[in-house]
Amino acid sequence: MRECLYCGGAIPDDRHKNAWTCSKEHALLLKKEREAKNYINVRSTADPIIKLREHFYNVAYEFGFEVPIELYYVSPLKIDWSLKTGTFIREGNVGVALGDIGYILFKPLIIKIYKLC
Ligand SMILES: [Zn+2]
Repeated sequence: MRECLYCGGAIPDDRHKNAWTCSKEHALLLKKEREAKNYINVRSTADPIIKLREHFYNVAYEFGFEVPIELYYVSPLKIDWSLKTGTFIREGNVGVALGDIGYILFKPLIIKIYKLC
């Protein structure tokens, strides 16, 4: 006898052969529960990067993409400069990617923000 993964009850014979739950209702609830857990996992690992990416988007919408911005306007003290999802190359320089947006620091204290795709 197989048991429903959601409520532990018996899975009726009229459920399809590969069913993990006693009813469609419980299949849906189980799915929601798993999605909620996945969501929490994704959020807790990706959150700082998501926030930083949003921050750069806000700056870029204010000042523009691929234009020199004085670092002062980017609130450098609030930024964790170690965060990145990869690198990219523009204008012969290596930039820091945060998903679909990235930045390159130019001296002295100038930053450019790039849309990567
Ligand atoms: Zn059930």
